[in-house]
Amino acid sequence: MESREQLQEVAARLCALPEVEMIRGGVWKPRTRPGGFEGLGEVALGWMQEVTEGPLRMADGGRVRFCCEVARPEHVELCLRHGVHDVWLGARTTGSPFMVEELCEALRGTGMRVMVKNPTSPDVSLWMGTIERVQRAIGSGVRAVHRGFAMYNNRGYRNAPLWEVAMELRRAMPEVPLLCDPSHIGGRRELVAALCHTALLLAYDGLMVEVHPKPEAAWTDAAQQVEPEALARLLGELEHEATGAGAAEPELGLLRAQIDATDHELLQLLARRMGISRQIAEVKRGGGLAVYQPDRWKDVVADRQALARRLGLDDDFVRDVLERIHAESVRVQLEG
Ligand code: PEP
Ligand code: MN
Repeated sequence: MESREQLQEVAARLCALPEVEMIRGGVWKPRTRPGGFEGLGEVALGWMQEVTEGPLRMADGGRVRFCCEVARPEHVELCLRHGVHDVWLGARTTGSPFMVEELCEALRGTGMRVMVKNPTSPDVSLWMGTIERVQRAIGSGVRAVHRGFAMYNNRGYRNAPLWEVAMELRRAMPEVPLLCDPSHIGGRRELVAALCHTALLLAYDGLMVEVHPKPEAAWTDAAQQVEPEALARLLGELEHEATGAGAAEPELGLLRAQIDATDHELLQLLARRMGISRQIAEVKRGGGLAVYQPDRWKDVVADRQALARRLGLDDDFVRDVLERIHAESVRVQLEG
């Protein structure tokens, strides 16, 4: 939330969409590193309250519902005082049981609903632990939000999606609705639609998408915001897809989404391997070494085939793939 006008504009445009259940608004935004826009605090809650108590209505005829990130017990109290009954715990909060316990004390008996983002590390127990703590405090109104994970190499995403981690959470807690946050996974608006399609194929229960009336001018995370109209178009596409062939065979859709995600990972790994290969070419050139080193290649093949056998992959198949990759690597090194 950046200003009263911005909040009012975005609320009016989002309320027109029947798929929108609530509007997210950041009021306190502790950043990973200091110096960025950290939110306006209570004054922004006041603007939300004005809209909630005003004439604007959601598409279902109800009052406008906002949700907000809380990280400290005082945030919970301020939200309640301003009529905000839906909150979420950010990734950094979920990973800290001390903070979660303090928040749970404040949440107990309030009737609030809480969304729990995954912790920054791919630790399903830590995510589940926070969901369980919040369930003890407020009962069943808890949902999980998959926002991706901080890995050393995020392979083109802001946060590595690791869909399988979210699937593991769902297997362990099938009663907890699972939402996807494509904005924080992608980090770039060009990736948001594809991530939403994957979430649909994987039968997620909903989405948390960052929207801004003028995305390029946003005070925070400008690259990942989409305009309300873009969200409307995207939701239309998703609905169309959900009522089409995909929905008739959810099992197949789920498996295909996993194949798509795996292929994307394979290609990103190949690109990474070629990048390393180019670096090796430079070192070899510097040291006057030959591009092709038969002994090294023999060792590589033996090592990979031993692994392939343990993984239950066919010997010939793995050999073919390795040969092809190696040939490309030699070509790239000669070209450099
Ligand atoms: C956010 O939702 O704006 C946010 C910073 O999320 P996360 O806690 O997932 O980083
Ligand atoms: Mn954000």
